[in-house]
Amino acid sequence: MTHDFLESLKNELGPDVFFGDDIPARYHNDWSGMTPVRPLALVRARTTEHVSKTLRLCHQHKVPVTPQGGLTGLAGGARPIEGGVALSLDRMNAIEEIDTVMATMTVQAGVPLGVAQRTAEDAGLFLGLDLGARDSCLIGGNLSTNAGGNRVIRFGMAREHVLGMEVVLPDGTIITSLNKMLKNNAGYDLKQLFIGSEGTLGVITRAVLRLQAKPADLATAFCGCPDFPSMLELLKSARQHLGAALTSFEVMWPSFYDFMTGRLPSLRRAFSEQHGIYVLIENGGRNAEDNRMLLETVLGEALEKGWVSDAILPASNREARDLWAVRESVSEYGKLMGPTTAFDVGVPTSAAGRLVEAVEAAVSERWPDAIGLSYGHIGDSNLHFVCNIPSAGTNQPYKAITELVFDLVAKEGGTISAEHGIGLVKKPYLKLSRTPEELALMGKIKHALDPHNVLNTGKVLPGSEY
Ligand SMILES: Cc1cc2nc3c(=O)[nH]c(=O)nc-3n(C[C@H](O)[C@H](O)[C@H](O)COP(=O)(O)OP(=O)(O)OC[C@H]3O[C@@H](n4cnc5c(N)ncnc54)[C@H](O)[C@@H]3O)c2cc1C
Repeated sequence: MTHDFLESLKNELGPDVFFGDDIPARYHNDWSGMTPVRPLALVRARTTEHVSKTLRLCHQHKVPVTPQGGLTGLAGGARPIEGGVALSLDRMNAIEEIDTVMATMTVQAGVPLGVAQRTAEDAGLFLGLDLGARDSCLIGGNLSTNAGGNRVIRFGMAREHVLGMEVVLPDGTIITSLNKMLKNNAGYDLKQLFIGSEGTLGVITRAVLRLQAKPADLATAFCGCPDFPSMLELLKSARQHLGAALTSFEVMWPSFYDFMTGRLPSLRRAFSEQHGIYVLIENGGRNAEDNRMLLETVLGEALEKGWVSDAILPASNREARDLWAVRESVSEYGKLMGPTTAFDVGVPTSAAGRLVEAVEAAVSERWPDAIGLSYGHIGDSNLHFVCNIPSAGTNQPYKAITELVFDLVAKEGGTISAEHGIGLVKKPYLKLSRTPEELALMGKIKHALDPHNVLNTGKVLPGSEY
């Protein structure tokens, strides 16, 4: 059976299919840090028809297939499985159209997010989706994970940036629905099934992205606040004064800020004093002077009321980039910390301070040498916690740390994943955030679309093991 399957794959996909040592190691894993797996075959599709042929063959021969984008996912969703096919979209990287009247961009799934952002800006428009992995992650991966990032507070998650999509179903059927209209209530909004389902229901091949008016500029402020409650007052004031122009409100606890600025010589500490919590605010209104003036108003009031102890309004883009560099240094964890257990939980914003205190205290009590860093997209109720236990070396107690953190998250009524998704890493814990009825419905949808359980087998849904 495997022999027939591989022959058919070779016949139908020709030079776009790779086997054995010809499969580069980068396709063996994503950023989750799990053990790499070399797939049976790698297909690097160039067209939607290639994707369709691959899925049809996998469906017929009941061979599992893992969709892959830029492989920056942190949940193990794009890690291939042994004996299965890895299906990479990285060669489907054309920008097919920019429509400046409709403010849309039609892209293939393999376009890197950063390329889509720059192309929109060159056309005088703006793509509101942004995340640290922008130059490595691909649009298909962003949509299938319903990615969040730095500007959700203003523009929403990836879902809000999509008007139309083309998807290939597990049996190879191509569903082309490249709608460009803002309003279209003709029947079910099918694209929503595939956005955020982490490649378990279909493979995204093309998308129509919704673009925004380009902000005149993005003014940044960096603040040191005495404590979490003061920071919440600052958030309320920023929302009130900046309104829809508030594009980011990113928070770093001292555990994160001190560790990163202390360990990375390229990063500059903004203040000589220590503060209780650090905030990056970005204001992207229509007028550059107003942007800065409004930020000054927010900071003036906050300093007067004691919500902010110190603040910087950078004088140049370069200075602003230096301030953002600390927040964006998350890509350096691997080098600085070694193996980590990482979280992207969500909790109601007012509970986030209590949760960080509880998590940092509980982890240090249990593992006294633990290094735990807390930061987050606080305006979106999304907290990150990254942890390494130096004394555990390569044998990190992932399960014990995860259970400890998720238990505290559950007590605050939170979610185990706000943006990275479930993949493999969080699959055993999905039941903490979803009811049995919700899980059963997810299982029914999966079975209806993928009766042989071949597409991204074993990911997301408990009981979907191959
Ligand atoms: C430094 C860094 C910063 C990050 N910051 C953020 C952040 O702020 N917010 C955030 O949400 N995430 C963040 N991430 C996580 C990651 O970048 C996102 O999850 C991203 O959306 C994954 O895109 P990708 O192309 O790399 O997908 P991959 O990792 O290749 O795949 C992710 C999932 O999508 C599936 N998939 C991929 N392509 C397709 C497709 N075309 N059709 C169907 N399924 C597909 C895969 O099977 C897998 O389940 C960060 C990661 C890093 C390394």
